[in-house]
Amino acid sequence: CGIVGVTGRSDATEILISGLEKLEYRGYDSAGIYLNNAHKEDHLVKTQGKIADLKAKLTPEIKGTTGIGHTRWATNGAPSVKNAHPQFSTDERFYLVHNGVIENYEELKAQYLSDVRLVSQTDTEVVVQLVDHFVIQDQMTTQQAFEKTISLLKGSSYAFLLMDREDPETLYVAKNKSPLLIGLGKDFNVVCSDALAMLNVTKDFLELHDGEMVVVTPKTVKITNQSGQRVERKAFHVDLDP
Ligand code: GLU
Repeated sequence: CGIVGVTGRSDATEILISGLEKLEYRGYDSAGIYLNNAHKEDHLVKTQGKIADLKAKLTPEIKGTTGIGHTRWATNGAPSVKNAHPQFSTDERFYLVHNGVIENYEELKAQYLSDVRLVSQTDTEVVVQLVDHFVIQDQMTTQQAFEKTISLLKGSSYAFLLMDREDPETLYVAKNKSPLLIGLGKDFNVVCSDALAMLNVTKDFLELHDGEMVVVTPKTVKITNQSGQRVERKAFHVDLDP
């Protein structure tokens, strides 16, 4: 029920965890984080239960400079570690957090993923396996595969944050009918479903509109609309203390 992301910070683990704690008020049944660094050393930690349980699973090695985090309010698949997000592709290349519901995931699974063994019961796993499918089978770039996948999600609601193990400092972002903001920093950027989650690292945010997609790196934020055109957007300043 909440999403956080960060790129370009050596304290990424702490930023994700404190962000998830600030989103606890929304309610959730499980939580997880995925982290990577410029050397492609990555970590996935998930738990059923509280953020405190997630913190209890962290060791000093679990760090990185880019990462995504999630609190889940189960809609498809019971609360469990396997169904917690980040969900990932079978080859462990793509990692995805998602708020919302994919209405046609059964159809998409039948159409494209009949030879893939899914490990969760979530609608979300179908999305991350589809991205992988289009990259591996159809030789698309990650952005093309993400765009193609999103174009197939008829009538669905989503806030997505996707990471590619092969491009470890980039966050791929998309939203439709679920809230999501980009937070701007100097040589880092963050993503969150509520500004509250990131006020300790930035007070400057970009609003996203339904159907937009964003590619975020430590120094760049590129927004495109549904027709693939670049969108320029002014940041707004939140004058609140964390
Ligand atoms: N539909 C997804 C799931 O059940 C996401 C739920 C959420 O918004 O937390 O895993």
